[in-house]
Amino acid sequence: MSFPDLLPDITRWMPELRGRVVANAMMADITWFRVGGPAQVLYTPADEADLAYFLARLPPELPVVAVGLASNLLVRDGGIPGVVVRLGRGFSNIKVEPGHRLRAGAAVPDARLSRAAADAGIAGLAFYRGVPGSVGGALRMNAGAHGRETREVLVEARAVDRSGSIHVLPLDAMGLTYRHCSVPPDFIFTEALFQGAPGESAAILAQMQEVADYREANQPIKERTGGSTFKNPPGNSAWKLIDAAGCRGLRVGGAKVSEMHCNFLINDRNASGEDVERLGETVRARVREASGVTLGWEIIRLGVPNAGHPTGEALVEAFAQ
Ligand SMILES: Cc1cc2nc3c(=O)[nH]c(=O)nc-3n(C[C@H](O)[C@H](O)[C@H](O)COP(=O)(O)OP(=O)(O)OC[C@H]3O[C@@H](n4cnc5c(N)ncnc54)[C@H](O)[C@@H]3O)c2cc1C
Repeated sequence: MSFPDLLPDITRWMPELRGRVVANAMMADITWFRVGGPAQVLYTPADEADLAYFLARLPPELPVVAVGLASNLLVRDGGIPGVVVRLGRGFSNIKVEPGHRLRAGAAVPDARLSRAAADAGIAGLAFYRGVPGSVGGALRMNAGAHGRETREVLVEARAVDRSGSIHVLPLDAMGLTYRHCSVPPDFIFTEALFQGAPGESAAILAQMQEVADYREANQPIKERTGGSTFKNPPGNSAWKLIDAAGCRGLRVGGAKVSEMHCNFLINDRNASGEDVERLGETVRARVREASGVTLGWEIIRLGVPNAGHPTGEALVEAFAQ
């Protein structure tokens, strides 16, 4: 399926746009899961000023969503109506600042951020070596690993809102809790300032290697996946509940619960977005039945299903015998 082409309108609304716009760009080409229909418009801003110009001139009724490296996304097969903003080269600078600080554009991959910190002798950011997203995604998800999370290392973030205004948000305005950020959903992060501590490069690099080795041994990082599918409920582990409900290895169409780490879903046989979502909802239903716990999705689901198809919990009911 495809959406009506908005490019002629965009050219008329914003003749001085410098970024790149593509109509009906397949999200499956971008997402880690390798599933998902088209973005009606995929916009890659040239820089922050270009993004602000775009948002200020885009009619307010058109929905806009930002994506980073799409490592935490499940995009539905019918695609994403409106605009998907994907930050690229214009947001990939890293600058070392006095006081063991790093300023990084929102498109910088987390692993590159941790490497830059190590090179500058800044400790405290090695955990990012294991998160395959970008700085923007880390802010929105309060990404964390190995006992640390973004809120412990963040000083402030910059963002552009839906009307094109720029905001600087100090840490305490971000509302970062476990895999959650309370900044309005229409704010697009463009940059972040991180605080580390003095460290020794060789020791930090060794710590990063430990993180990488742990990942390789314990997570299906070479598969088409979205990482942890569900948040850990308070005092419990999602993977333990999933395992106890007998879901390890469970399959729906081309999607499967990973044998290696059962809070990971993998696309190992050309799955559709619907296969992945139905598998996730089946796991949730079985865990609820086995333990009484309702798991909450950590993976962000975007877009619409194919015409006439259900989403969410209705997917389980639709296929019940
Ligand atoms: C193998 C694997 C391992 C993983 N391990 C971990 C882990 O240990 N810890 C962890 O926390 N996560 C983990 N994840 C999940 C994922 O990497 C993180 O959530 C990451 O922070 C997502 O970043 P992203 O750039 O890929 O964001 P995306 O997946 O593209 O988007 C995620 C969310 O962030 C929003 N977003 C993205 N960029 C911006 C922006 N510039 N402004 C505003 N909103 C934005 C999107 O709208 C969406 O809501 C893992 C994923 C995989 C595939």
